[in-house]
Amino acid sequence: MFVVMEEGATEIQVQGVIDLLVNEGFTVHRSTGVVHTVLGCVGPKEEIDPRAIELMDGVKECHRVMAPYKLASHRFRPGGTRFEVRGVEIGGDRVVAIAGPCSVENADQIEQCAELVARAGGKGLRGGAFKPPSSPYSFEGLGEEGLRMMRTAADRNGLFVVTEVMDHTQIGMMEPYVDVFQVGARNMQNFNLLKELSKSRTPVLLKRGIAATIEELLLSAEYLLSGGNYNVILCERGIRTFESYTQNTMDISAIPVVKKLSHLPIMADPSHGTGRRDKVIPMARAAVAAGADGILVEVHPTPDRALSDGPQSLYPEQFGELMRQLKMIAAAVGRSI
Ligand code: PEP
Ligand code: MN
Repeated sequence: MFVVMEEGATEIQVQGVIDLLVNEGFTVHRSTGVVHTVLGCVGPKEEIDPRAIELMDGVKECHRVMAPYKLASHRFRPGGTRFEVRGVEIGGDRVVAIAGPCSVENADQIEQCAELVARAGGKGLRGGAFKPPSSPYSFEGLGEEGLRMMRTAADRNGLFVVTEVMDHTQIGMMEPYVDVFQVGARNMQNFNLLKELSKSRTPVLLKRGIAATIEELLLSAEYLLSGGNYNVILCERGIRTFESYTQNTMDISAIPVVKKLSHLPIMADPSHGTGRRDKVIPMARAAVAAGADGILVEVHPTPDRALSDGPQSLYPEQFGELMRQLKMIAAAVGRSI
């Protein structure tokens, strides 16, 4: 942690800050510049809240040097995290494509999706059986019946299953059907859910909240890791900004930032990131070029008749074309798909 004193801070003020920090167990290194005095502090693991120091007289600013998350930080596992889901490596050299409808609608629809995803080279089947729609009047999913349909379709086509868990009470019931639990953007800070998922050994795909900073995303991941579940995939899915043309603003820069700050794999969801079919392909290309470990994309056999998120769901042939393009982009950044 370091503290920058105001220009003209008095000796009494500087000493007041030093005394407080020393009392808290810090070793303080003072450096007196022409304009500012800077205090470099090394000390206890549990740092004090920088705001408490910034409120002291004569203090200009105070910053942490160490990240508040430990297990999710890059230095915890500098080599990066890799793990397998049904024989597919996540976080490895290959970019992993997970695709499927927004919602599981019926057995035929999910079967068609699984077939087209597998045919194009996708490895995971996504689809919601429990949906968290923004409106209480929208489709809420088929529940356990939907999970059963999804498992059957995925098994028939050699895919793993990624689906959203909305509440901690659903975990046990869902576990037999699911290969990766998705935590939706609206639940990124549902700490009860994260704590319960941390006890599971089923991998978790943790989506970034619509108004969450990257640090908050990593702190939510820390909940999963600190409870013992190390198989975590982060997912950038767009954040809420003042821009209204797209549904959300796809923060591609979060991908290299997370790669620097954390060892966890990060995927990108350009479907929710843009909310528009015609913007999904360019943003998926950008995500892979930026170093994403995978993409999560909505695709539907008949998007115009989809029960949810039709306008952002790709047509089957568009998904095939996207996969062809991603092969070239992955190769250009030293990976394959
Ligand atoms: C979804 O993947 O269908 C979904 C609801 O995503 P998000 O939580 O990112 O909105
Ligand atoms: Mn959706």
